[in-house]
Amino acid sequence: MITSAASTKIFKGTTVSKGIARGPLYFKRDINQNRNFVGKGSISEEQNRYNKAVVLSQTDLNQLIARMDKSHSEGREVIEAHLQLLEDPEVQDQVFGKIENGFSSTEAYTAVVEEFRTLFAQLDDEYMKQRVHDLDDVSKRVLFYIANPTEAYENISLSQPSILVSDDLSPSQLLSLDKSKVLGVVLKNGSTQSHTSILCRSLEIPCIVRTAVDMDTQGGNNVGFLDSIAGDLYLNPDSQVEAKLEAKRVSYINELKLLQSFRNQATKTKSGRLVPLGANISGPQDVDSVLKNDAELVGLYRTEFLFLDRVKAPTEDEQFEVYKKVFEGLPNRRIILRTLDIGGDKVISYLDLEKEENPFLGVRGIRLCLKYKDLFKDQLRAVLRASVHATDLGIMFPMVSTIEEITESKKIFAEVQKELSLKKIPYSTEIELGVMMEVPSLGFMLKEVANEVSFISIGTNDLFQYSNACDRMNADLGSISSPNHPGFLRFLKFIIQESKTYGLHVGVCGSIAHHPQIMPFLIECGVDDLSMTAQHVLEARKAIASIDDGQTNTKLS
Ligand code: PEP
Ligand code: MG
Repeated sequence: MITSAASTKIFKGTTVSKGIARGPLYFKRDINQNRNFVGKGSISEEQNRYNKAVVLSQTDLNQLIARMDKSHSEGREVIEAHLQLLEDPEVQDQVFGKIENGFSSTEAYTAVVEEFRTLFAQLDDEYMKQRVHDLDDVSKRVLFYIANPTEAYENISLSQPSILVSDDLSPSQLLSLDKSKVLGVVLKNGSTQSHTSILCRSLEIPCIVRTAVDMDTQGGNNVGFLDSIAGDLYLNPDSQVEAKLEAKRVSYINELKLLQSFRNQATKTKSGRLVPLGANISGPQDVDSVLKNDAELVGLYRTEFLFLDRVKAPTEDEQFEVYKKVFEGLPNRRIILRTLDIGGDKVISYLDLEKEENPFLGVRGIRLCLKYKDLFKDQLRAVLRASVHATDLGIMFPMVSTIEEITESKKIFAEVQKELSLKKIPYSTEIELGVMMEVPSLGFMLKEVANEVSFISIGTNDLFQYSNACDRMNADLGSISSPNHPGFLRFLKFIIQESKTYGLHVGVCGSIAHHPQIMPFLIECGVDDLSMTAQHVLEARKAIASIDDGQTNTKLS
């Protein structure tokens, strides 16, 4: 932290999504951190504190059940299982016993949960093993209420437009917020490539992560100025600092206005080569941003965000409505829809997935869809039904590592087409199929890939993490995590050129697509199109207009 003037404090972070915002700060405290706030009272105080937390948790869960659609039978089962664990007399006996032996309520409950966890995990019975997930969920809620009996669990409700400051934020928590009230997001942890960060970019919410913010400054009437271009959060800026920041905000807005002159024109290099620029989107909420920033296509529609933050998968009809809305909202454009990419940092509770040691290397993307075929088929049916509302649709499969995964996915796709034809339900017959290029070894199988699909899209966020052994969620890797790595760039060049050799259309949709140094290199390598957060499209179009093909700095590779 830097103290600049009498009252101004500056917290430094890393830019995720550029913008400048001013407003009250809303501090969302982390459950773990809150444990520090809990002191230890007398035996009866601690027992009461625990009892109160259980009652608050019960109330929450009963309200959740009451709000739930009658048809959400799986959702009800999950919540009922949580209630059973909560009301288990054995748990209460043990917690009370430990409190009598000198533990605080937090310590006692944590210790009891840990004992049950170990017990469940050791049992051979698959049902009991699954209960570990329920136990984890319930215990988080109880621990939260032990520390915060007057607050609402996981319920971030912003009463006024604010800058949200938190240790961390899950994609589903971000999605549950009213976007009009989120002026900015400041995370103490987080990483630039996490899906929460990707969402902030696509929702155009100014955001910084890895911020050395002092959560103890919470309370009071703190005003913040978030300059996420520089990566700074100013706390209670004095009038001089405020005037400087306001001037920066105005000049940033003017710069954005200037970029507007690049709207309504095709993206071309100086020598006239067309390099269409696409937007990466997550759902109907991004349609406006695609139009506002004049993206020529959607190079990546991440559909999985519709599946997060809920107790049951969206039905086929619900999905159909959402896809239709996106297709109708973006006419006359190519849209590449990616099928469900769950796994890694995107988890869903209703599938009861096994806890994995390395979720980014586990049952993720197409692997999960091929395991849960009904889920996959529902999605494909919904997309196909909605396809009559799209001008030019491509469907691609994520996290593909083998040719068999492609043939199996195509087989399922053909089955769904056949089912629809038999029922005389219309769908587009012009859909092209493609794959995400994210697993390094697939980069050496482009001839075989080209026999199966017509395009690839290079997902450099994952391709880089897998080829350079760099966890995309770990912000402590410093310069090692820069994709500007000669070996990686050579690999990209190889993939692009091999794709051309075998007649595959090749795009890049990972976040290096708009990297100022790497973008010209990708263009020189022959990439067909680039897709990025809509916010970057006009800036990239401006930069591409001054690229002289053939004059780019090949030294990069
Ligand atoms: C990627 O991996 O580069 C990509 C675009 O997919 P995601 O970021 O959604 O994993
Ligand atoms: Mg990916």
